[in-house]
Amino acid sequence: MNFRKDYSFLIFLYLVVTLNVILGSNKFVTILLLFSIFVITIYIYENIKKIISEDKDASMSSLLNKLDRTQKETEESYKKFLSLSKTLGSGVFMVDYDGKITFSNKDVENYFGIDIANKEYKEIIAIEPLYKFVNQAYLIEEYTRKQIIFEERYFDLISTPLYEGDMFAGILVLVHDITSLKNAEKFQKRFTADVSHELRTPLSAIKGFSEIMMRDKDMSLENRNEFLGLMNKESERMEIILSDLMVISKMDRLDYELNLVNQEIKGIILEAINVLNPKFTDKSLEKIVDIESCELFIDKVKITQVLLNIVKNAINYTDNGYVKIKGYVDKKQYIIEVSDSGIGIQKEKLEMIFKRFYRIDKARSRDTGGSGLGLSISKNVVMKHGGSISVHSVENEGSTFSFTLPIKE
Ligand code: ADP
Repeated sequence: MNFRKDYSFLIFLYLVVTLNVILGSNKFVTILLLFSIFVITIYIYENIKKIISEDKDASMSSLLNKLDRTQKETEESYKKFLSLSKTLGSGVFMVDYDGKITFSNKDVENYFGIDIANKEYKEIIAIEPLYKFVNQAYLIEEYTRKQIIFEERYFDLISTPLYEGDMFAGILVLVHDITSLKNAEKFQKRFTADVSHELRTPLSAIKGFSEIMMRDKDMSLENRNEFLGLMNKESERMEIILSDLMVISKMDRLDYELNLVNQEIKGIILEAINVLNPKFTDKSLEKIVDIESCELFIDKVKITQVLLNIVKNAINYTDNGYVKIKGYVDKKQYIIEVSDSGIGIQKEKLEMIFKRFYRIDKARSRDTGGSGLGLSISKNVVMKHGGSISVHSVENEGSTFSFTLPIKE
């Protein structure tokens, strides 16, 4: 605002009038001067009014602009928060000071089956463990964390208090679905228990035989040799279990990688079958081999392990007849089928045989030196190659195990 000039001019006029009065000048001049002062004062007054109103308008519009910008920024942050909450892969919701759920993302709805947004948190009492957690977090106004179970799923809940200045403004709750983690934990515990059990059996046998031998000093050489033979067999079994466990623990690692190389599968299959030739001869089984050539991108060591395991099983669980190994190209995959005329598998047990340590006839598996881990390792290897494994079997007639390997284009 530049009123200084106007004011100075007005003061100057007043001085002239005052001087005029003091000097006792002409009345007409004095009245003329007073009139001029009056006109100029009104003019200045109007001018100032206009400037003030213009200024007011300007500051008002800048205020509105600022408000608009803040509103846009808030909307922008909210949009960012919404899109973040969608891609978060976890549930998130907010409860305000009055106990109302002002925001809740889709994951929360998926986890608990209802959309809790815009409800009072007290209305979610049907989801009891969640309600209890929110209630406590809301009342104590502090960081809270708890794991809950809802309809057989596990959730990790974290609540953080929100503040506006120093005032409590509600809570922000994060919901992580940790069901797969919990299941992996359970699986690991059961696996550890199974391993201890599997190792304890041969260990107890070795301990028992050695105690008898120590006690019975006069044991015949024949018996002694028999016991030593049994102890040797049990220790071999332990060795097989431990080496299979090493394979499993290696393959379970997240950073495990196959050693994939382009190679001709026919040679690999024939090589594996040759290793088992003595077993075919021992059991006088007919060996039928029908293999097509094909170049595959595979880990030779691992695929050999799968072949050895499946063909060895076919021999072990077949008392007479044949074992047939067929390999052929089918569209974009190579299929390997191992059929036998053996004892077969009951229908209801077909799914179980790929599980770790599962054996239908424990005694028979033990006799043949099986660890009960072969098929689960085979399945893992085939799946890591991008293939699949399946079994078809009829009890007392025989089984066919097939697995596929993708053909790289
Ligand atoms: P194992 O070391 O006991 O052979 P596997 O994991 O290789 O362990 O096999 C699991 C179980 O599946 C075996 O104990 C056996 O009961 C069954 N099985 C596997 N292959 C055959 C087969 N060819 N014929 C009948 N049963 C089989």
